[in-house]
Amino acid sequence: MSPLAAIARRPRIVAGNWKMNKTASEGVALARELVALRAGDPAAARAPRVVLCPPYPSLESVGGAIDGSGVELGAQDLHAETHGAFTGCVSGPMLAAVGCAWAIVGHSERRQLMGETDAMVAAKLRAAQRDGLIPIVCVGETLAEREGNLTEEVLVRQITAAYHGLDAAAARATVVAYEPVWAIGTGKVASPEQARDAHRVIRATLDKVSGAGRGSELAILYGGSVNAGNAAQLFAEPDVDGALVGGAALDAAGFSRIIAAASVGG
Ligand code: PEP
Repeated sequence: MSPLAAIARRPRIVAGNWKMNKTASEGVALARELVALRAGDPAAARAPRVVLCPPYPSLESVGGAIDGSGVELGAQDLHAETHGAFTGCVSGPMLAAVGCAWAIVGHSERRQLMGETDAMVAAKLRAAQRDGLIPIVCVGETLAEREGNLTEEVLVRQITAAYHGLDAAAARATVVAYEPVWAIGTGKVASPEQARDAHRVIRATLDKVSGAGRGSELAILYGGSVNAGNAAQLFAEPDVDGALVGGAALDAAGFSRIIAAASVGG
């Protein structure tokens, strides 16, 4: 299937970003536990798409553990080139070859800790699509930017840089994750109103950059300290189409409850 045809109009999605956690065997155990919990879910037909993004060395074995379960495999990043002298990097074709269908691009930890620029994120988005992966494009403001009333400006800049020049079909085949940096790993979750306002800015910007209508077609996930206790409140906000989950994705029971909360009508 062409990656550009892979996204239904605003599906619900819950993606787990394991970051630099879990060895391959630990990851397999976690994935198996999650699959077993999901198998007994009476609301499975209404369940969101579920994506696991383990570290690179675990991709193949976790992929085996989720094979046939409906849970999908994603990478936490990719290099924009397909191959070459880029020590330590991994390319889209390599990820696709081990079963990845998704790739996170522009996560704030990579922007902040690895110096990724808006231009690099734009290149990775395009590389993911070239290589058959669905990009989850992360954007979000720091605490200083929020306190300086710069949230809207930052989101407009990041979305414009990532999507500028993408045609409508390509834009439609992406997912955005709004991840306020101050909420990631801090236990400080954005309020549903803060998430709604940010998602509306993102949708309006997508309309401007990628053509009228794109904003309402794309799934926008919220990320930042989502857990089993706060997920339902966030998903009740109609502009929130799911979640990108870090810490809480490392516990199968808790992650399964987040997935259940994202079930349509659930
Ligand atoms: C993330 O890393 O994308 C994230 C949202 O982390 P956490 O859920 O731990 O805040």
